[in-house]
Amino acid sequence: MLAKLVKSVLICMPCVLGAYFLLMFIEYLTGTPPTVTGTITAILIPVIIGIPVLFVIEGQAERLSFAVLQLDDMRLEAEDRAKRDSMTGLYNHQHFMDEIRASEGDRHKGSLLVLDIDKFKNINDSFGHQKGDEALISVVKAVRASVRGNDIIGRIGGEEFAVYLQDASKSEARIVANRIRENVEAIMFEPKKGLLAALTVSIGVAMKREVGNMVHALRLADMRMYEAKNTGRNRVVHSGSNAELDRAKTDTPA
Ligand code: GH3
Ligand code: MG
Ligand code: MG
Repeated sequence: MLAKLVKSVLICMPCVLGAYFLLMFIEYLTGTPPTVTGTITAILIPVIIGIPVLFVIEGQAERLSFAVLQLDDMRLEAEDRAKRDSMTGLYNHQHFMDEIRASEGDRHKGSLLVLDIDKFKNINDSFGHQKGDEALISVVKAVRASVRGNDIIGRIGGEEFAVYLQDASKSEARIVANRIRENVEAIMFEPKKGLLAALTVSIGVAMKREVGNMVHALRLADMRMYEAKNTGRNRVVHSGSNAELDRAKTDTPA
């Protein structure tokens, strides 16, 4: 407030001086002797008009810059929302792909996990879609709790997720995958009072190094996830045949 007042006074000073010299000039031209009233008027008018006007302008400028900041925040928020799945807050498929493509040139070791909830349809069919949503959210919580902050998680399908472990070697990725599998298995999901329903996931693990790029690695991890399904579910599969590697490289990428 005081700073605003000082600023307004400083801005008014040249106007006061200008008005004073203009008055002197007019008096000189017209040959009228200077009067006290005239001099005071020349000083007061710019002050009386100028200071409130400057106060108003200053206030409007502050409001405008605040509105610009708010707009910027809203834009960033909207951009972030467009990248995420509204139910889980995880990156959506499109943005997950963008993220892993963006890290393509990095020297990271880079491992990918693809995981799918086992027999999830049974949860919906037995307890309803809302309980299904709750189960899905608790699986996401377990996945988040099993990985590091800089790992990237995406919801790439209804009950299918992918995790990009930026610096993990194959053996580290296997450890993380098994931790996720165990943490999901440990969820005490109680869709009805006194009734616990089992939640498990099947996981495929692949490394960028195995197939040359991240998109093919995601495809390979997906194929291994299906292998985990076909060999009993609630499993982690991290290796396969050479034919499988060729298929991951030649199949149309996701
Ligand atoms: P599998 O072990 O072979 O993966 O069996 P599954 O039952 O999990 O697989 P399936 O593909 O037959 O069914 C997946 C189900 O997941 C069907 C779909 O309705 C449900 N689902 C997908 N997204 C959501 C969601 O956001 N909320 C709920 N409640 N269900 C979902
Ligand atoms: Mg499933
Ligand atoms: Mg599925």
